[in-house]
Amino acid sequence: ALASPMAVETQSDPLLPSNSTSIRVAVIGAGASGLVAARELRREGHRVVVYERGSQVGGTWIYTPESEPDPLGLDPERPVVHSSLYMSLRTILPRKSMSFRDYPFVAEPADWSVNQRAFPGHAEVLAYLKSFARDFEIEEMVRFDTEVVKVELVGGGGEEHSGRWKVKSRKTTTATDKINCSGGGEESDEAFEAVVVCNGHDTEPRIAEIPGIQRWPGKQIHSHNYRTPEPFKDQVVVLIGSGLSSMDISLEIAPISKEVHLAVRDPSKMAMLGQRLGLSNTWLHPTIKHAQEDGAVVFEDGTSTYADVILHCTGYKYHFPFLEKDLMVSVDDNRVGPLYKHVFPPILAPWLSFIGLPSKGVPFPLSEIQSKWVAGVLSGRISLPSVKEMMEDVDTFYAKLEAAGVPKRHTHVIFTSLVEYNDWLADQCGIPGMDEREKMMLFAAHENFLARPATFRDEWKGEEEVEKTLFS
Ligand code: FAD
Repeated sequence: ALASPMAVETQSDPLLPSNSTSIRVAVIGAGASGLVAARELRREGHRVVVYERGSQVGGTWIYTPESEPDPLGLDPERPVVHSSLYMSLRTILPRKSMSFRDYPFVAEPADWSVNQRAFPGHAEVLAYLKSFARDFEIEEMVRFDTEVVKVELVGGGGEEHSGRWKVKSRKTTTATDKINCSGGGEESDEAFEAVVVCNGHDTEPRIAEIPGIQRWPGKQIHSHNYRTPEPFKDQVVVLIGSGLSSMDISLEIAPISKEVHLAVRDPSKMAMLGQRLGLSNTWLHPTIKHAQEDGAVVFEDGTSTYADVILHCTGYKYHFPFLEKDLMVSVDDNRVGPLYKHVFPPILAPWLSFIGLPSKGVPFPLSEIQSKWVAGVLSGRISLPSVKEMMEDVDTFYAKLEAAGVPKRHTHVIFTSLVEYNDWLADQCGIPGMDEREKMMLFAAHENFLARPATFRDEWKGEEEVEKTLFS
């Protein structure tokens, strides 16, 4: 039986977009995505509750020296530490590419020598998000130390939506950003018309499968639990992965480790990178073939090393433990689907949405524009195609990925289609897409990273070059 629809108010406030309706929306998470989603939803006139299991805003950007007791993060019952930041982390994007549209991420003059850097450290990013939350009075919408444990559809979804969501939450037992999954405080249920999922996707480790690993005597850890280099002193370390974490961490541990071995999928692509690392105790290998009982780690090309530690810098899995299993949206080989434009499950659109899923893009501005879209669709100001049309679009997208040989697990890697995707969303929202300066800055930042993987943050001339090109 379908539940009766909740009261939907027609807005009469002249400051709100005309023809819009206001509904109750639950936002899950107060990281960058949840904060900007809350702001956009409220701007559109919706009534918003943000659930945050930690005790402050900022999500991933809240660095903590604590790590999880299970260094690989395999135990589903383990106490979870949300953030995956290491102490020395600086951004991969220049701060200008991380700014929300109308809230520039400028360096604070207080400690100019550090803060003028184009690629700031994590503390500056957290300070930026906190200022954003303060200046837009977002914290008043947030329920801190409150974890969403279940999101249940009561009534129907789709074009004839007449249902509502029951959001079950519980108070978290600690006042830190760490939650104890085995604990659990007071529970409560609340009804909403729409749910916007902003729970992040850099917490649940993905692990490389290594034949023979059960009998290998060394230690294993995922980069989620890496904080500082000291534990790797005098160790022989094999890092798996060719992303930024593996690059940063290998550079950081090499001066004190005995040996550093990077195992990557395609060493030919990394060859230049390997040379440029220029460290006498660092080697580049193809992926690991197997690990042996005597401590050897054998690579695909037959080379091997006796290692003390394997450090998995192998990324993260999308994880929505609070979503009912039969909700018609699932995670399969790291594809969250089916999702129309990485945001709406067609059959439940627009009443369930996901903000911030795309990776290797520009997370803050992209979450902002996705949020504007969701907020406008929920108020009826922006229209969606029919469920059938959205499903067809999803099928076409998947077929395209398959034809291009893109693995399923890269469904949400947006890098090559970032501008197109961003501009499509902007068009839906009736706002300008990326301007030339923004596009050139991103391109310059990427080139800079490829050319100087070890020093790209401090040898950045991109901004001057972009300005010169634009005005020449
Ligand atoms: P998060 O920041 O992860 O926030 C999710 C929030 O949801 C958290 O506060 C969490 O406590 C809360 N939550 C989760 N589950 C629940 C629940 N059940 N109930 C209630 N609350 C819940 N991006 C950049 O732009 N530039 C960079 O340089 C950059 N570097 C990065 C480096 C690393 C090592 C990592 C891991 C990520 C990096 N990112 C970078 C990406 C980063 O994830 C995004 O910038 C952004 O922080 C994502 O925001 P989010 O709100 O989607 O998720």
